[in-house]
Amino acid sequence: MNNLLISVVIPCYNEAENIPLLLSSIFMTLKTYNYEIILVNDGSNDETQTEIESASKKSPYIKYINFSRNFGHQAALKAGIDHAKGDCVITIDADLQKPPETMLEMITLWTEGHDIVTAVCKNEGQPSLIKKMTSTAYYWLLSKLADHQVIPNGADFRLIDRRIVDIIRNMNGQNLYLRGLCAWSGYRQATTFYREENRKIGNTKYSFKNMLNLASNGITSFSIKPLRFALSGGLFFAIMAFFYGIYALLMVWAGSTVPGWASIVASIVFLSGIQLIVLGVIGEYIGKLYREVSQRPAYLISKTNISISPGKNESDFFPEIPERGSAMV
Ligand code: UDP
Ligand code: MG
Repeated sequence: MNNLLISVVIPCYNEAENIPLLLSSIFMTLKTYNYEIILVNDGSNDETQTEIESASKKSPYIKYINFSRNFGHQAALKAGIDHAKGDCVITIDADLQKPPETMLEMITLWTEGHDIVTAVCKNEGQPSLIKKMTSTAYYWLLSKLADHQVIPNGADFRLIDRRIVDIIRNMNGQNLYLRGLCAWSGYRQATTFYREENRKIGNTKYSFKNMLNLASNGITSFSIKPLRFALSGGLFFAIMAFFYGIYALLMVWAGSTVPGWASIVASIVFLSGIQLIVLGVIGEYIGKLYREVSQRPAYLISKTNISISPGKNESDFFPEIPERGSAMV
């Protein structure tokens, strides 16, 4: 057990003030384990990188990856996972909203044989009512559309075994949606619960636009059901329009056509709306195909202190870990 290495991956976007507190808390929590901490600076424009580099000088357990610009939370997670050498990887936010102590329960469940341990937020009423309602509606929709069951409220606070780490490393796509990927993998999953704190320092980095992107990515990454709905919806309205056409002809034959103006306008507007929705759904998938086909990397690194380029059996090269406790930030 003690020679197992635990990698902790932390995406950071303008989190300078949170980093020292978070690191001390992780050091305390994991003091009896072998671990490495990978901080991924996702193009922050505050002092995040300075904080990270100064922490890395004080502790040999701290690795960092500095992106050339902001590539987004999921890309930051992927970079950390790609460069992790651990037997398992735990992903946790930098904002201290998620308690590092929960990692201990995750590790226990992992050593009991689970490949994926997702921490689920348990407290009622913490996020704003709107965020709660949209998130409940979203997970309901996802459960109806996705082919694999995604754990509701399981944010990206999760432990994954090396086997899943290797799968993620081998994926080059830009549209990583870890929550769906874990459900899709079919490996043994467990959940643990935590209470989410309010953000004490800084603001949420997930704008409404970012959330919409993630939500749409979640649905379109793991399901083509929206395309099928578009097709059946389109067919349904085409049949309706056909019968309406017959009705209109009958009206012409009966010689009472003038009063039909309103219904014609209404049906044209309605059907064009449906067509636009269907086109939008198709466009979403085509856009996704385009991004995948263009094969651009999910992120670009401008600086890192991780010396060995990613490969499959690097855990052998991980430098000898000095005595714990010396690492104070
Ligand atoms: N984050 C990131 N890149 C981004 C946005 C967010 O790396 O473009 C990080 C952020 O620093 C934090 C985590 O992702 O560690 C979750 O973000 P946040 O706490 O803002 O989201 P919320 O908890 O409000 O959903
Ligand atoms: Mg947060």
